[in-house]
Amino acid sequence: MTDPTHRLKAGTLWPTLLERSAHACEHQAILSIPTEPEVIEQNGVLFQVRIIKALAVKSLANSANSKHNPFLPYDPDLFVADLSSTHVALLNKFNVVDHHLLIVTRSFEPQDALLTRDDCAALLIGLSEIDGLAFYNAGRTAGASQRHKHLQLIPLSAFPDSHVPIEQLLRSARINGPVGTVPGLPFVHAYAHMDPTWLDQSSNAAASLLSRYHQLLQAVGLPPSYNLLVTRQWLLLVPRSQEFFEGISINALGFAGALLVKDHAQLETLRKKGPMVALRHVTLPPYS
Ligand code: AMP
Repeated sequence: MTDPTHRLKAGTLWPTLLERSAHACEHQAILSIPTEPEVIEQNGVLFQVRIIKALAVKSLANSANSKHNPFLPYDPDLFVADLSSTHVALLNKFNVVDHHLLIVTRSFEPQDALLTRDDCAALLIGLSEIDGLAFYNAGRTAGASQRHKHLQLIPLSAFPDSHVPIEQLLRSARINGPVGTVPGLPFVHAYAHMDPTWLDQSSNAAASLLSRYHQLLQAVGLPPSYNLLVTRQWLLLVPRSQEFFEGISINALGFAGALLVKDHAQLETLRKKGPMVALRHVTLPPYS
């Protein structure tokens, strides 16, 4: 049975997140990565590209290479809230956007493991409290830097005009049954509508989301590595073939239309080749 002491009180996550962000900044527990924003348009999508300012590249590399598990134990200054008996919400220590939440399992589970009903329940709590983009980078190839299972949630305010850039294409999604595809995406993927009733956290909402996730996985052949993106309106799952395009690490945010590069040379590569080409390079070619 769920331990009630670990259940989040409805309506408290966003104010708690603001309060804990201020606390973490005051205690220098957060090392925000400063970036410059750019926009590159391709296939009607205004890709948001952030260029990391030179001095921050090193701290990001150190975080990715660190051998210890940063989530067990986690830094108490980064704690935000108990979401459930199985998951906590933490602040991302090296955040690029404000109020970036990590939804972390209390006990160790590997990052490439399948999502569980408890993961789905925690994701739905996060998404019903904060209108944003939740995502899961399943394993290193999908861009994960940490081995301990974590989902992530960033508020819509992290995107220009509070819109996920790729949504421009998702409007033309073709649904046949529970799962469909998006004509403008030139790689294997599976798309589904989100059922808004799942956000009311009824007792079977997590099981329903888990079942939709399984349908998405099955639709693309149960890949070992993939990115899952979930908003209040839609879900997108993209199998991965590799992490990098020309030295640029791509995770789930890439498929939302937001990319992070280390310098202007990488920005120029993206401009020249096109962000959609970068996404195609790290995924699987569409079935013919
Ligand atoms: P990913 O790279 O997708 O696996 O997400 C893991 C996130 O954890 C990264 O965005 C890191 O910035 C963040 N991170 C790394 N070390 C810590 C830490 N000690 N506490 C909190 N977050 C961390």
